[in-house]
Amino acid sequence: MTCLPIRNPQSEIPMRCLICNREFEKSTSPALPFCSERCRTIDLGRWLGETYGFPVAPDPEADELPDEGDLSSGNGTKNKPL
Ligand SMILES: [Zn+2]
Repeated sequence: MTCLPIRNPQSEIPMRCLICNREFEKSTSPALPFCSERCRTIDLGRWLGETYGFPVAPDPEADELPDEGDLSSGNGTKNKPL
């Protein structure tokens, strides 16, 4: 993969998922502001305090997370305080 085609950069603004910290396109997500319904469910589980017992497997692609200390480039949307 070298040159990926760029399509409609105006409507394909990348967002960063609050859960798996992965960039995605708004138009491809069924569960904004998260990248997927799975992440939205995980977020809900965190709010319910069931982070460890929630029957949702983490995204396998989330293994390659960027440095957690490099969130300064975002818009302040870090993990929600509990
Ligand atoms: Zn996600």
